[in-house]
Amino acid sequence: MFWTFVGLAFGLIVTSALVVVVRTFQMTSTPVAEPGEPIAVDAASAANHLAGAIAFRTIAQDDSCAAFQGLEDFLSRTYKLTHERLARQRVGKYALLYEWMGRDRSKSPIVLMAHLDVVPVLSGSEATWSYAPFSGTISNGYVYGRGALDDKSAVIALFEAAEQLLQTGYKPERTIYFALGDDEEIGGEHGAKEIVKLLRSRKLGDPALVLDEGGAVVEGRQLGLATAAAMIGIAEKGYVSLELSAHGSGGHSSTPTFPTQIGRLARAIAALEANQFPTRLDGATLEMLTTIAPTQPFGTRLVMANLWLFRPLVIHQLLSDPRMATFVRTTTAPTVISGGNTENVLPDEAKAVVNFQILQGDTINSVLERVREVINDTMVEVRLLSGIQSDPSPISDVSSPAFAAIAKSVRESIGPNPPLVVPFLTGPTDSRHWSATGARNVFRFTPFAYEQDWMLRAHGTNERISVQALADGVRFYTQLIRNTEGL
Ligand SMILES: [Zn+2]
Repeated sequence: MFWTFVGLAFGLIVTSALVVVVRTFQMTSTPVAEPGEPIAVDAASAANHLAGAIAFRTIAQDDSCAAFQGLEDFLSRTYKLTHERLARQRVGKYALLYEWMGRDRSKSPIVLMAHLDVVPVLSGSEATWSYAPFSGTISNGYVYGRGALDDKSAVIALFEAAEQLLQTGYKPERTIYFALGDDEEIGGEHGAKEIVKLLRSRKLGDPALVLDEGGAVVEGRQLGLATAAAMIGIAEKGYVSLELSAHGSGGHSSTPTFPTQIGRLARAIAALEANQFPTRLDGATLEMLTTIAPTQPFGTRLVMANLWLFRPLVIHQLLSDPRMATFVRTTTAPTVISGGNTENVLPDEAKAVVNFQILQGDTINSVLERVREVINDTMVEVRLLSGIQSDPSPISDVSSPAFAAIAKSVRESIGPNPPLVVPFLTGPTDSRHWSATGARNVFRFTPFAYEQDWMLRAHGTNERISVQALADGVRFYTQLIRNTEGL
């Protein structure tokens, strides 16, 4: 009996080891296509146009009609042919929808998204910028200013591509929409959402491709790559904030009764931190890891090719880095707290806000339910905070023609060495308004090579983009529009 068991166990181990090795060697990377004919782009002129666009203080919160109107006029002055040939309409307040009529109106359209608004510059921080944030200064090969990365570079690159294609007499096969929101930075409820509603009401069919911001071309080193990585968002996390509040008796600090409202609230938050959401390694994150794996050393390949065995190990590794942990679970982040304002008075109310970025598999409702369960205290009220709320998006198909067109365009346009195209999971973008209507071909990517410290710059100080990256972006949109032929 004993030896039968040992024999069986040995057999199992040998078989497992064989499977592990065979699977590792089966893992190959997709062949990279040769870059297409280079497209001549007037980089200096594109940079000047971006600098011009930056000068308009299109801050959504400020609701400045003059700034948005100014930018709209600037675009129509600068891109004359585009404004002659494409139909333009305002949607909501300042959002713009351009329609480039295709040769075949029976085919579903392409939607290319970007946003006209920018985040404000923190008051008092203007002086810490190398160049005034709304001056649009070009210096040492960079365009500086608020919106240089997020997201006026995409707006300008789109128009540069269209203008250039129109000059060659190009007419797209499918109708192409440029959908430019005016309030992305504050939720996109009036810009992007209204545009989606409008286009859906025209019954044009599910778009063959929707492309919004989300990923970019980043240094591949962090992912263990020798090349840069073009991170294409194939899904986005959901988003919700919950307000927790504890109400009860307050009183003088000399006669406390327990738990106090602050104590009750603190216990609830501590329970949420101690009971994190369950982990899952699947969907967009699995796509990301399996895309990268073939480029990795043998050990990593072995682990990735055999997730049936090593999945817990991989999840453990991802959880050790907060930048990666977000890919495998719904995150829990207490961000705001208030209660009491006098040292010797017990407040009768304490409140906190906890923000959740929701992984596929969870929903706003399941988050709410689980939070109540974990807190397990009926005296702590939990309610949805108004503002951005979205369920996680569906996962777009990496084997779809739309994804292939994006990947091909990346390889044809972004240099000097083509980056590896990597699908991944993003945070919330304006494209969620498409996902919410069931659109399937939604991807999130701006075609610009970002510097390593871009996160500090994008909503921070000295936001800038290199002129080279901007020119590559123009090439990308040009190629993408061409590559949507025959989608
Ligand atoms: Zn943005």
